[in-house]
Amino acid sequence: MIELKEGATSFKIPTEDSYLSSKADVFYNPHMAINRDFTILILEAYSILKSKKLIIADPMCASGIRVLRLLKETNVVEKAYINDINKKAIDVARENLKDYQNVYYFNEDANLFLLQNKGFDYIDIDPFGSPVEFLDMAIKSLRYGGLVGITATDTASLSGAYPFKAIRRYGSKPLESEFYHETALRILIKSIIETAFKFDIALIPVFAFSYRHFLRAFFVKEKTIAKSIELYKEFGYIGYCHNCKFRKGYTCVMDLPKYCPCCGDFFDYGGLLFMGPIYDKHLIDIMKDSKTLKFFSKDAKKLFDIIKEEAHIKSPWFYKANIFGKPTMPKLQYILKKLKATKTHFSPEGFKTDMDFKDIKEFFEKWG
Ligand code: SAM
Repeated sequence: MIELKEGATSFKIPTEDSYLSSKADVFYNPHMAINRDFTILILEAYSILKSKKLIIADPMCASGIRVLRLLKETNVVEKAYINDINKKAIDVARENLKDYQNVYYFNEDANLFLLQNKGFDYIDIDPFGSPVEFLDMAIKSLRYGGLVGITATDTASLSGAYPFKAIRRYGSKPLESEFYHETALRILIKSIIETAFKFDIALIPVFAFSYRHFLRAFFVKEKTIAKSIELYKEFGYIGYCHNCKFRKGYTCVMDLPKYCPCCGDFFDYGGLLFMGPIYDKHLIDIMKDSKTLKFFSKDAKKLFDIIKEEAHIKSPWFYKANIFGKPTMPKLQYILKKLKATKTHFSPEGFKTDMDFKDIKEFFEKWG
């Protein structure tokens, strides 16, 4: 066993060199520390919002690091139920969590575990690849008012490298563009909301981000048909011109023009996807004051600082200055000021604004 540290927490895993492989005895990915940082931040805020401690489930816990960090770095866990299909993982998690009495251990398939244990305030879905096979049970097993955090690492298909895979798994056509990261995240969010619709459940997105090889989205479960209708009204398509970069949102596929309304070139599209707000501003306000932020890595703090700003922009896409084909480009700070824009966590060169495409294009045409 070797000892590692993440956030303010030390823990153990079996071998030094193989833990990053999905074939490892017990999986641990240090690049996912940021994924766990945000789990901690959101759960702490959510517990404050609900004025209660939480009963949580980690159905794919591996070394148990996520629950261990929640127990060590916050005071929000009433009970934790942890599970992994791999017996060695549960043995290691048991060792890592041995100082805590309020943890219950299971060694089942995640779907069976979720079928047999219900009423959680929080469920974390963190599989290898796509989360789709665990969505039904996670949605049902969560109590009303509860929070679910879902990771997807099959970003290549969602981003457009394997479009037919995205159509099969998520029921949507991806779109290759400079803002493909955001389209991928919004397709994932649509697909999760759509899964919940089948059970007359509304899953409201409250926080989401894309980082390196993964996408992460959090939802609150509600049972109101009115909320489901509101969510459904936010489903739509993005029409996109690869030539002049014009883009526009459409509610109905029949309304998508064949040719670009701006330059007349071929008009591509992506969707269905969720076009509505993906951040709960109230939750973000609580997160801003969190004491746990001090344990965050530099990258996680930077990501959060940018998300706080971009959460105010409505557009379901972002821009990069280089798409406008100018030999020299204005500095990002200047663009932000002139185009009423914010940075975006999706890309270091990207910016987000609700200004009209026509005005943005004109700004770049006049430049240089
Ligand atoms: N959540 C962990 C963390 O934060 O370190 C990492 C989880 S790792 C990406 C995926 C885990 O899911 C592995 O430990 C694997 O053994 C487990 N797993 C894979 N298929 C499963 C299934 N059908 N049911 C339960 N666990 C499963």
